[in-house]
Amino acid sequence: MKIVIQKFGGTSVATPEMRAKAVQKVINAKKSGYYPVVVVSAMGRKGAPYATDTLIDLAKNECVDTHPREMDLLMSCGEIISSVVMVNALRAKGYEAVALTGGQAGIITDNNYGNANILRVQPDRIYMYLEMGKIPVVAGFQGVTESGDITTLGRGGSDTTAAALGKALAASFIEIYTDVDGIMTADPRLVPNATVLKHLTYSEVFQMADQGAKVIHPRAVEIAMSCNIPLIIKNVNGNGPGTMVSSYYESDYLKTIEHDPNQVITAISHMLNRTQITIENLNLELQNTVLNRLAENGISIDLINVFPNKMIFTIDGDDSAKTTTILEQLGCSYSAVYNCSKISAIGNRMRGVPGVMARIIKALHKNQVHVLQTADSHTTISCLIKGEDTAKALVALHDEFKLHTR
Ligand code: ADP
Ligand code: ASP
Ligand code: MG
Repeated sequence: MKIVIQKFGGTSVATPEMRAKAVQKVINAKKSGYYPVVVVSAMGRKGAPYATDTLIDLAKNECVDTHPREMDLLMSCGEIISSVVMVNALRAKGYEAVALTGGQAGIITDNNYGNANILRVQPDRIYMYLEMGKIPVVAGFQGVTESGDITTLGRGGSDTTAAALGKALAASFIEIYTDVDGIMTADPRLVPNATVLKHLTYSEVFQMADQGAKVIHPRAVEIAMSCNIPLIIKNVNGNGPGTMVSSYYESDYLKTIEHDPNQVITAISHMLNRTQITIENLNLELQNTVLNRLAENGISIDLINVFPNKMIFTIDGDDSAKTTTILEQLGCSYSAVYNCSKISAIGNRMRGVPGVMARIIKALHKNQVHVLQTADSHTTISCLIKGEDTAKALVALHDEFKLHTR
């Protein structure tokens, strides 16, 4: 049985017209001899009636703290609604389909509500429907704990559902349908001349996603990499080839990029809404206490620089109030810079190439972008900048490394 996973993101299932396009992709897969397993996101983006953000706002507007368990139950509804609507669209075209919640599809998670980890997938029920000739349509972004509570997998987590099902069902490939032509050299909303990358390795895409490229969830990339199943990111509007993500470049493609000095960078990712925290007059004991208290409260920190009596790090802007409360309780003298962005240049081929950081800093300074902090690994260079400079900085780096020629 040749299985293909076809995941449709929020915009791909937002309207009857878009769902008709999604249904056609499923029919095409069936006609090519595959058994499609469909995964859907909640319909539409922020503002749409059944979008995840709308459900979150519903809870926030109640002015009472919704417990994480109930919050997950609420958030899971968007994908459940979408699965039923998609089943109806398939049936209207004469294809028998069956809607499944994440739990019914066999996705078992821990109880880390809001960002649950998949413990295992029991795909028996999916196989049963496939053997009956029905198309399973699984609600993405959710699972169920051993004790039967519904959980969600973190924002953007329908990609994770798709990859986890792909692995459990040993799919031939995993298709991620979205509203752009594939994985691009930068977010096309901010960099108008960004281009589609035809082939990428799992590790490059993981770095891009981990550094904020929303187009795919980093966990989905990790899962696909762990079982070496190709991930294909495509536009639901049209028939372009999209981006093929696998463990190696095809050799003809590699030849076109490996000797070009401009091709040390593959893409530029960005993360909005970061807060930079600086704590002064710290002794070792207080440093440890601060780090422990942040971890206990589930606040993840990034771009961490520790000095003998000072510490600088960044956090998600949404964690700012929680963090400053902790620092005040501990009597720390701190300052915070809100609304920062982290931009990251990513490329496996920058390894050992001198002068990449110098080019980045020079390009940013030339465009009057003030750098607040930097960090680097052998395949990534990140700079923290002011949020208002994000588009300017992305375009400057995109131009500097001639990414439009990729
Ligand atoms: P979906 O609802 O289909 O999952 P997402 O909004 O999660 O869609 O992801 C698609 C969006 O990701 C695009 O509309 C684009 O603005 C954004 N994006 C950010 N970085 C990139 C990139 N490097 N390549 C392509 N899209 C990107
Ligand atoms: N609907 C969820 C979200 O908006 C999951 C997803 O779209 O992948 O985060
Ligand atoms: Mg997404």
